[in-house]
Amino acid sequence: MTLPPLEIGDKNVSAIGQGCMGIGGRFTSDRSRDSEQIAALGLGIDLGMTFIDTAEIYGGGHSEELVGEAVAGRRDSVFVASKVSPSHLTADALILACENSLRRLKTDRIDLYQIHWPNPSIPLEETLGGLLRLREQGKIRHIGVSNFSLPELKHTRSILGSTPLFSVQTEYNLFERTPENEIIPWCVKEGVLFIAYSPLDQGRLVGSAAVRRNLAKFAQMIGCTQSQLVLAFLRSQGPVLPIPKALCDEHIRENAGASEVVLSADIKRQMDTKCRIEVKLVPWRHIRPAPNTSGDHAVYKSIEEARANLAGHSPSPMDLAMEIIRNDDIKPIRVTPVLGGDGTFRYDLAEGRIRFWAWVLAFDGERDVPVLLRD
Ligand code: NAP
Repeated sequence: MTLPPLEIGDKNVSAIGQGCMGIGGRFTSDRSRDSEQIAALGLGIDLGMTFIDTAEIYGGGHSEELVGEAVAGRRDSVFVASKVSPSHLTADALILACENSLRRLKTDRIDLYQIHWPNPSIPLEETLGGLLRLREQGKIRHIGVSNFSLPELKHTRSILGSTPLFSVQTEYNLFERTPENEIIPWCVKEGVLFIAYSPLDQGRLVGSAAVRRNLAKFAQMIGCTQSQLVLAFLRSQGPVLPIPKALCDEHIRENAGASEVVLSADIKRQMDTKCRIEVKLVPWRHIRPAPNTSGDHAVYKSIEEARANLAGHSPSPMDLAMEIIRNDDIKPIRVTPVLGGDGTFRYDLAEGRIRFWAWVLAFDGERDVPVLLRD
């Protein structure tokens, strides 16, 4: 049995989509694998994964160019979603960003245009006003948001008025199950599509050896692969569209096949408890903030550096701190255990390098940090 496409209002989207982060380069353009990556997206479309998620920031715009190539000749049978960066959320910058994305995608409309991350320094009214204008002009068909908290979602809904909010995109996988608490139930109630990003925990499937063992057991019982089980489980939680990124043929076929895996209520119940990692609260001084300084983003080593935001992050740690105080909420930070440390630090900060400092600044170091611990 193959599950039908997801129905959101009067629109259908494929049961499983395709993510494009890293296709065309990570944050700068890489043209060395263009033909392989266009073919991978094409195979995914052939197999029914017709929802494609890209962003202006992926590959410095080159990801959108490759999506444009992959959908050429069959644009009408593909649902193209892109995202505008938080640094382009003023009305003028937004219009320009959209024009540039349309040009790179070689299309006359983007099916879903999403705010990639909120930017508290630009009024949401201004950004949504720009999106509404683009929608009226037919340059975008639907409006979505990404990495928004529940209060931000409610605010968005109230500004949009009678125009529907089509989707919210948030990280959701077996390691990060926080969206099940509030955001997915809200999406169910409001008829909003929930797009699960990094559904395979960036290829790890789940960053906990104990949960991974349980996952293997369940997959064997059902007769599917572990990644198919993950995707089927996420889908079973509501109007959830997982968008795995896959370049290797075997992965693409496996992901497409996940739409045929239907889970019994009993398996779902068992997975619910046996595939869960609890959020821990940890004193911020136990976390080493800059275990290494390589990578795409500059990191801060002290509270003073974070407050000064010398690397010019937008939004800055201080902007995010104000947002945390307003919402009393944060996506848990990822840490790994310090192996053979000097006793000062117990954890290394793995992901959430700006969020970590935002939390510390918001509460002057007085409140423990919510973390998810990777093995
Ligand atoms: P992901 O989809 O969870 O994982 C991708 C990794 O998993 C790749 O290394 C891929 O390998 C591997 N993989 C794919 N299918 C597999 C399978 N069946 N079995 C085992 N491994 C498999 O991570 P992601 O790329 O971070 O997230 C997916 C998409 O979500 C992104 O591409 C992007 O569109 C979106 N996203 C959005 C945000 C946001 O802020 N809105 C943030 C992150 C991601 P191969 O490529 O070698 O096949």
